[in-house]
Amino acid sequence: MYGKVEILGIKIDNVDMDEAADILSGFLHGNTYSKVFTPNSEILLEAVRDREFEGILNSGQLVVPDGIGVVVASKFYGTPLKERVAGMDLMMRLMNIADSQGRSIYLLGGREGVAEEAAIKLTEEYGGLKIAGTRNGYFDSDEEESIINEINSSNADILLAALGAPKQERFICKHSDRLKVKIAMGVGGSLDVLAGKVKRAPVFYQKAGLEWLYRLIKEPRRIVRVMGIPKFIALAFFDAKSKL
Ligand code: UDP
Repeated sequence: MYGKVEILGIKIDNVDMDEAADILSGFLHGNTYSKVFTPNSEILLEAVRDREFEGILNSGQLVVPDGIGVVVASKFYGTPLKERVAGMDLMMRLMNIADSQGRSIYLLGGREGVAEEAAIKLTEEYGGLKIAGTRNGYFDSDEEESIINEINSSNADILLAALGAPKQERFICKHSDRLKVKIAMGVGGSLDVLAGKVKRAPVFYQKAGLEWLYRLIKEPRRIVRVMGIPKFIALAFFDAKSKL
């Protein structure tokens, strides 16, 4: 059994990677629409600023801590999260499960051609996986109707939405009554990594909880986002203190 840990009003599932993967497998065997979110510190900070977004994150059926900052913050409340569950790794576990169950995936997001290249990489790696469809992530709101219709008519079991936060979470939540997939997961820049456009941090950085540092070195313009990490940790610290 696992519980939820509340950090600054956002409820995070206290699961390790294996438990998260089992939950996803269960979702695929069910018949409901499950929203999967993988917030890091910057995303949780955004949810503190925007209470509507907080509600969106809290509506997720599985919400795991993508960032080490979230794991650190959980300790202040006396309810430590088991481990960081990186969104990219969880997405790959989901692809593994989908492969063994012969499921189909719709890839939505990234610049023109990224979803297609990610699809090629996935089918090379997982022979049993079906790509139901792909589309870039740059569209106006009046195009959403046709995108929903396209995803539904593709009969995809899983939607990977790589639109960046908070756009992907809003999209997944806004269309929850209409989308027919079993799992809709927000995967940020993961399709860029799959497509080989962006290099993932070496395992050393991942294990040391320093993936953010590697990304900052590669893309210095991320400094504004990285500055959110200490701010988030400080906010969580004082919030936890006020509750203890
Ligand atoms: N993106 C998109 N549509 C948009 C804005 C962003 O498809 O309107 C894509 C963008 O091309 C990139 C991803 O969303 O592939 C966002 O990546 P980011 O690095 O911000 O995500 P992170 O992994 O940090 O959550």
